[in-house]
Amino acid sequence: MKKLLMAANWKMYKSVEEGVATARELVSLLDKLPEDREVLVCPSFIMMHSVCPILAQKAGCYAGAQNFYPAAQGAFTGEVAPEQLMGLGCTHALAGHSERRHVLGEMDELIGRKVAFGLDAGLKMILCIGETIVERRLGQIEEVLARQLESGLAGVLSTATAQNLAVAYEPVWAIGTGEVAGPDEILAAHAFVRATLTSLLPKEGAQIRILYGGSVKPDNAATIIRLDNVDGVLVGGASLKADSFSQIVLA
Ligand code: PEP
Repeated sequence: MKKLLMAANWKMYKSVEEGVATARELVSLLDKLPEDREVLVCPSFIMMHSVCPILAQKAGCYAGAQNFYPAAQGAFTGEVAPEQLMGLGCTHALAGHSERRHVLGEMDELIGRKVAFGLDAGLKMILCIGETIVERRLGQIEEVLARQLESGLAGVLSTATAQNLAVAYEPVWAIGTGEVAGPDEILAAHAFVRATLTSLLPKEGAQIRILYGGSVKPDNAATIIRLDNVDGVLVGGASLKADSFSQIVLA
């Protein structure tokens, strides 16, 4: 059975001390984590060393990177390699988050290389995809999602396993805006992602988890995770406080 993946993206927030305190509080609030859910926290690199061991104390809780560079090592100033992260206890990573695409200029091809390299290195990968408001208004949602899925998974078609790969559908206009996609919008996008995954990866496509992200809060999480083809959530703002993220995890 697929477990729900309830993921937190702390972005560029928190000092090491704050991250440690939040992780400790979260682990204690999740004392009775239901068997059907996994929890992932993606802190900033600076606190990975301190936060990983805290999360590791709780079965079903994992630490993930918000980003990495797809090389084993080398002259890549300012970048971090999967091996370095895994050495700290990090097990997962995001690729293609909307802020990396739209603020930092990452292109489909690099994102695809990250997904393939991360999987080969042993990370569980979450490929983030989603349309901008302009693309939505122009009726290009499916075109954008198909392109981001095809390029994001281009290097992994033969080696992907459903357990090591997840896709997060995050409409850009819903991230950090308080404007959550409605149930019909989520259902339609997730059904399209599922169909595309099944056509790209006939064996694994049905089992790959599809997360929703975009202004998920304690008061809308329960509705969202019960929608068809929603296998978890990726949460930014509401994951920064242990209390609100734990309410989402337990929704
Ligand atoms: C995100 O950062 O992936 C995100 C969904 O942010 P928020 O929950 O704040 O919209």
